[in-house]
Parts: sequence; C-alpha cells; structure tokens
Amino acid sequence: MYDLVVLGGGPGGQKAAELASARGMKVALVEKDQLGGTCLNRGCIPTKALYAHIIGGHGTREGLWDRVETVVNKLRQGTTTALRMAKVPVYRGHGTVTQWEGEKRITVGKADGTTEDLTAARLLIATGARSVLPEFEGNRGAKIFTGDWAITAPLLWDPRQNQDVKRVAVLGAGVIALEMAMMLQGLGKEVVLLKHSDQVLRRMDGDVKKAVVKALKGRKTVMRDYVTLIRAVESDGGLTLSGTEKDVPFEERCDALIVASSMDPILDGFGLEGSSVAVRKGAIAVDEAMRTSVEGVYAIGDCTGGAMLAHLAEYQALAAVGDMTGDPYRVNMDALPSCIFIDPEVAVTGLTEEEAKSRGEEVVTAKAYFAANGMALALGQGDGFVKIVARASDRRILGVHIMGPEAASLLGEATLAVAKGMTAEEVTRTVHAHPTLCECFRDACARAAEAKA
Ligand SMILES: Cc1cc2nc3c(=O)[nH]c(=O)nc-3n(C[C@H](O)[C@H](O)[C@H](O)COP(=O)(O)OP(=O)(O)OC[C@H]3O[C@@H](n4cnc5c(N)ncnc54)[C@H](O)[C@@H]3O)c2cc1C
Repeated sequence: MYDLVVLGGGPGGQKAAELASARGMKVALVEKDQLGGTCLNRGCIPTKALYAHIIGGHGTREGLWDRVETVVNKLRQGTTTALRMAKVPVYRGHGTVTQWEGEKRITVGKADGTTEDLTAARLLIATGARSVLPEFEGNRGAKIFTGDWAITAPLLWDPRQNQDVKRVAVLGAGVIALEMAMMLQGLGKEVVLLKHSDQVLRRMDGDVKKAVVKALKGRKTVMRDYVTLIRAVESDGGLTLSGTEKDVPFEERCDALIVASSMDPILDGFGLEGSSVAVRKGAIAVDEAMRTSVEGVYAIGDCTGGAMLAHLAEYQALAAVGDMTGDPYRVNMDALPSCIFIDPEVAVTGLTEEEAKSRGEEVVTAKAYFAANGMALALGQGDGFVKIVARASDRRILGVHIMGPEAASLLGEATLAVAKGMTAEEVTRTVHAHPTLCECFRDACARAAEAKA
C-alpha cells in the first residue's frame, strides 16, 4: 500500500509526487498519456518554443518545427528521469478511483487491456483541464483546432506544411487566444479574432488591456465583438464561418479556426461521479491546503478551476504535500504571477488597480516607460511600461503590471516585492544594476513612492 497515489502526471501531479517522496512518503503516480501533461506536451513549453522562434527571433523559420519537437522531447526525458531519481514509480494507464473513503483504491487500465489495482492512504487528483468546444454546426471539422491541442498541429505552424493556411480565425480573447494570434501573425498569417465580448484579457489591468488592443490593431487584426458562431462549413479547401456579431449576421472565410475561448476542469473518466467529493462551479472544491471534502483526498491544478497556470499547480502541490507532512504552506493568491507571451510581452503580479479599488483600498498608481530605459533602447525594444499599484497610505506595492521587453523575466523581483509586502521606497532604495531592464521597475517604484494620493 502506498502513502500517496497521484492521479495525473502534469506539472502539478509531478511536483506533488517528487516532493512527497523527498519527504519520506511512499508514492506512486498514474498517467494515461505523456508525462508533463498539458504544460509540456501541448501548452506552455511548445508555445514558448514557438514564441522564442517566431517573436524572439531565435532560429531560422525552416528549423522552427524541429526545434519545438527537440525542446519538448528533451523535457519529456527530463521529467521521466526526475521521477525515477525521486523513486516514484509511474503506472502508465487510465486511472479510475474505485474506493474514495477510508483506504483509497485506484484501478489502472493499461494499453494491453490488463488492469492493476493500487491502494493508498491518500489520493491526490491532478487531472487537468480541457478546452471547451462551443456548440455550433460543424464544430468537429478537420480544420477546427481547440486551444489545448492547436499547438501540436504542424498544419498551422510548420513552415514546410502551412503554406496554404493564409487566414486563421481565433475564437476567444484570453491568454491562449492572443498568444496563438500573435504567433500566427509572426508567421505572416492574417488573423480574425472572434471575441465573445468587446474585451481582451478580461481580468487584466485596464492600461494593459488598452495597450494590447493597440498592439493587435497595429498588426491589422480583424476583431469582431460579441460573436456567437452558428456554423462552420468546409469548402474549396477553406472554411466558411457564419454567426452573429452583436446579433447581426456575419460570414468569415478562413483556412482554419482555433477555438480558444475557455478551459473546463476534467472531472470525468476517473470515478469522481461515484464519490462524495464536492464540486463547486464545475471544479473540484478544495480548501487552502488543497483538501477536498473527502478525508485523505486532495486536488490541485487545473481540475480545481480558477487561474489555470502551471506554476500555480506546482505551488498548490506544495500546499497539499505540506498539509500531508505537517509543514503547512498556503499559496499567496494576492502575489500570483501570470505572463502573456505576445509582442510586447505582458507580465503581471498581484492586484490590478480595479481589483485593489474594489477591495476598498485607496491606491496610487505610477508608470515608467521602456522608451526611457537604456537597455530597452539598446535592444531596440522601447515599447511598453511598468505600472505600479500601491496602497496610498504606506506605498506598499499591491500589484505590478509590465508590458515590454523580457516582461516575464522581470516579474520575479516584482512578485517578491508584492509577496513580501515591500513598499515602493524599499525597492527604490535597493541598488539596481545599470543598464538593465529592471531599472524600469525601480523607476516606476520611485514614482509610486512620490506620487500624490
Ligand atoms: C496552449 C496553452 C498554453 C499554455 N501556456 C501556459 C504558460 O505559458 N504558463 C502557464 O503557467 N500555464 C500555461 N498553460 C496552462 C498549463 O498548461 C496548465 O495550467 C497546467 O498544465 C496544469 O497542470 P495540471 O498538472 O493541473 O494538469 P495537466 O498539465 O493538464 O496534467 C493533467 C494530467 O493528468 C492526466 N490524466 C487525466 N485524467 C487521467 C486519468 N483518469 N488517468 C491517468 N491520467 C490522467 C492527463 O493525461 C495529463 O497528463 C497553457 C495551456 C495551454 C493549453
């Protein structure tokens, strides 16, 4: 019998298994597909390998697809090695929980048709999420790709195979939709963004949203608002989409459609419906220690809903295993970083100005621009800004919103400042090397420290 069985080998499940084993638990992991989950196989990693190639300019167009595969394969090997070194056996097959209360029982259905039963004192669910495919006629056509699999389609990305794809429609205006849209544009494709509202990046800071819309317009992105798709019909090698835009009928001709509107937690296929594990708003309900409503059953990552981010899944693993091993840890959701790999790059942490105000905080905001930063200009990337949201009374930094060169890499310092409750003045008085992009963060903090309330 194991101390812990982890169901799902994505970033959340893998982290939990490694950590629990390192803390002396006897752990097994069950995975039905490739280790690394959505993140490694069709999410974060292949998209960023493409991003580095297309937008970062690291490599030739011809080598683009091979490089993506090389990066993914290398990390897959690394994942397998890491679990082996952590002494975590991996059971390859589809896991179904057949006993939830008391001693847990998991049946693993293997590719050869055999099954194996595992028992454990505790169970951790990390089954991830999948793209929602809205109902419209023809929604399962060969030229329609969901956001969670689109990156695996060489027809869209491999310059040796995507010559006939000239115009792509993207349904959605969230992170995945915008990342795909800008990469396609980087490959010279026309993009039509079909938005469910008039917004992009719904939860982002207002100034960031405005700047992103400006960048999209600068790339001649066709944007349709309040879209409902009714039909997709394949003809003459292309796709005709029809639907309504603000209740007015429209038609769009394109060569492919990416549906990247939203993701739903995966709650089916592993016996959850036969359990008394509580589900709230379509996700497994958990407390701050990632405990579900059933004793000894934990859940982490995308299957628990909310922000769906690989690093969040990993830190939730820390909270769950911390609870199991008597070393409590709580994820600080008020210092949660998030990046959008578009051009210019976006990286945010903490509260938006709007969120801070809705919590009753009196805030000051301040911005510094990369146009005045020596390193940004030296790199030829002077577009963008760093915005600070600070509490008016003591200038404690509540949120940092960056759009510009290497924004994601600049986020580490910003997140530390928010998580540790630092004031704008404390950042300003910390020596920042010159010439560096992080001077822009320091300058924004200096302005926030002096800003009038
Ligand atoms: C295109 C795209 C780009 C993304 N980019 C980023 C990014 O840049 N940064 C970021 O932080 N996040 C990004 N994400 C989100 C990130 O991939 C997810 O948040 C992360 O993978 C969630 O980790 P997880 O462990 O919860 O689930 P997953 O990674 O989805 O892993 C779940 C695993 O469980 C397995 N599984 C499910 N059911 C069973 C079963 N019954 N038996 C056995 N195994 C099972 C699945 O096969 C899968 O391997 C992106 C997602 C997409 C789709």
